[in-house]
Amino acid sequence: MKIGILTSGGDSPGMNAAIRAATRCSLYEGIQVYGIKRGFEGLIDGELIDFNVSSVGDILHRGGTILETARSNTFMQVEGRAKAAMILKSFGIDALVVIGGDGSMRGALALSNEHGIPVMCLPGTIDNDLGYTDYTIGFETAVNTVVDCVSKIRDTSSSHERTTIIEVMGRNCGDIALYSGLACGAESILVPTDELDVPAVCKKVIMGKNRGKKHNIIMKAEGVKMDSYELAKQIAQTTGVEAKVVILSYLQRGGSPTASDRILASRTAAKAIDLIKSGCKESKAIGVRGGEIVDYNLEEALSMVKQPKKDYLDLAEVLS
Ligand code: ATP
Repeated sequence: MKIGILTSGGDSPGMNAAIRAATRCSLYEGIQVYGIKRGFEGLIDGELIDFNVSSVGDILHRGGTILETARSNTFMQVEGRAKAAMILKSFGIDALVVIGGDGSMRGALALSNEHGIPVMCLPGTIDNDLGYTDYTIGFETAVNTVVDCVSKIRDTSSSHERTTIIEVMGRNCGDIALYSGLACGAESILVPTDELDVPAVCKKVIMGKNRGKKHNIIMKAEGVKMDSYELAKQIAQTTGVEAKVVILSYLQRGGSPTASDRILASRTAAKAIDLIKSGCKESKAIGVRGGEIVDYNLEEALSMVKQPKKDYLDLAEVLS
């Protein structure tokens, strides 16, 4: 038996842990492994490397992905996917492991539907925007990175008695803002699923100032419709308190994965290889629910809608 492993879309901390686990579990079971460079683009270009146990040595703790990642326009076309399928066939690859976000999983589904190749998908994205899994690989590391940054920002924010809007990643999902906002006691948390209430944000700034607070942290998800600089302008105009914007951007994608992300990556990868070894011909999305590793039909998984975490938001509101 032979498998290919690739990482696709935005990188996330823990992708290397997933590559390592998928490779070593496969080799342990006598399955040959090809590491595929640069995602679907590299697959189309035939960038396959025969992996052994040492190929994935010393990477567990490293951020990014040793296989590198890419966004591929060619793979979006039927012809591109046909070329990818041809490459897989010519190498005798029976199944593919794809580590990436929802776009990568949609690509995997198209490949699987059109060419009958089973694809096991692991949720590799910091965004935590997949409905079928409680957590994605890299999310917890990204949240910890944001919390770390906020501690530093808070120092200078207090010294200057200003409000800081911290814009974090997550595309249309507000989980990075929500979890990090809750973890660092942000005064306001703004997520895309909630209507933006600028007067309420201003009221908090004024109330904070009146009770002697030296800083005010507003955690804002990038998916919230209003531009962060426009929000800062409106806050300053309404409250008279200086408002600064910090956009954390790609900083959030880097760094060594947390223990939880390494373990999630290892467990989901082991499940993928388990399914392949047992002869599963269906494409699957693997994730975690209530601490248990789960697998769903890939198409079904992609149709699951992420539920907003109202209880987390309510708690943040009480605590602020
Ligand atoms: P992240 O959430 O971190 O951005 P992602 O996996 O969602 O990761 P995308 O850029 O959306 O990242 O997708 C990665 C690649 O998957 C795309 O560049 C493209 O090659 C492929 N892909 C995405 N959507 C489709 C689709 N509907 N059909 C075929 N291929 C797709």
